[in-house]
Amino acid sequence: MNKSVLEFNKVTFHYRQNPEPILNQIHLHIQEGEFVSIIGPSGSGKSTIFRLITGLEQPSEGTILVNGENIDNRLGSVGYMPQQDLLMPWRTVLENASLPLEIKGIRKEEAQTRVIELLDAFGLQGQENELPGNLSGGMKQRVSFLRTILSGSNILLLDEPFSALDAITRLTMQEWLLEQWQKWKKTILFITHDVDEALFLSDRIFVLQQVTEASIQEVKIPLGRPRKLRDLSKAEIVMLKEQLIDQLRSKVSI
Ligand code: ADP
Repeated sequence: MNKSVLEFNKVTFHYRQNPEPILNQIHLHIQEGEFVSIIGPSGSGKSTIFRLITGLEQPSEGTILVNGENIDNRLGSVGYMPQQDLLMPWRTVLENASLPLEIKGIRKEEAQTRVIELLDAFGLQGQENELPGNLSGGMKQRVSFLRTILSGSNILLLDEPFSALDAITRLTMQEWLLEQWQKWKKTILFITHDVDEALFLSDRIFVLQQVTEASIQEVKIPLGRPRKLRDLSKAEIVMLKEQLIDQLRSKVSI
């Protein structure tokens, strides 16, 4: 049986200055190796869920278990990849990617050797001495993902990592991410605004209800693995997409 790696049990949360809860009695259970996307209109609490998982915020009520443990400082237990790559512009690819290993106390030379061994697998061979400013958007996100993998965590939180990329690069990166996810056997939680992206990547999608509603709706994606982009044109997926878009529309107040 699959192991649960992330659990929200009856989690309620409000920001200190505002007593209105953003999340109200939320239950979430994520199994080892799952790919789960979170979609919802702006302001529905997607980033707040990530802030709670990393421990940047603590629940007002309820518990969060990461790998079965209920600890306040969860930052080291999960890998986080933000929307913007946040690479340090003055550090080379090699220096940027080896940062999480150096932070863990691994000697610089050893950290860099480990990164060099992985450059090929990340499509970055020969780029080790480049500065981020000389890389394409897709390459920068691959460095950022490599850095997230090197955090060593089994759970990766990806916050709209492809939203700044052009449409074609974005599709290529989605396929690439699925290959990496399968290869590294990580559990991924992925925030996106893009319903197609969520359908293509995920085992399950969590649809965030309007703030303060008690439930997060969950949709299972009826597609096997590996997937092809053309799977998105299957009749059942097109119907599911329409349903999700309708749901999201009904939650946006104009
Ligand atoms: P999303 O990621 O879905 O756009 P957020 O989680 O960023 O949504 O925000 C959810 C709600 O919480 C919004 O109404 C937002 O204004 C509010 N919020 C977000 N961050 C803070 C904060 N640091 N302090 C107070 N309110 C916040």
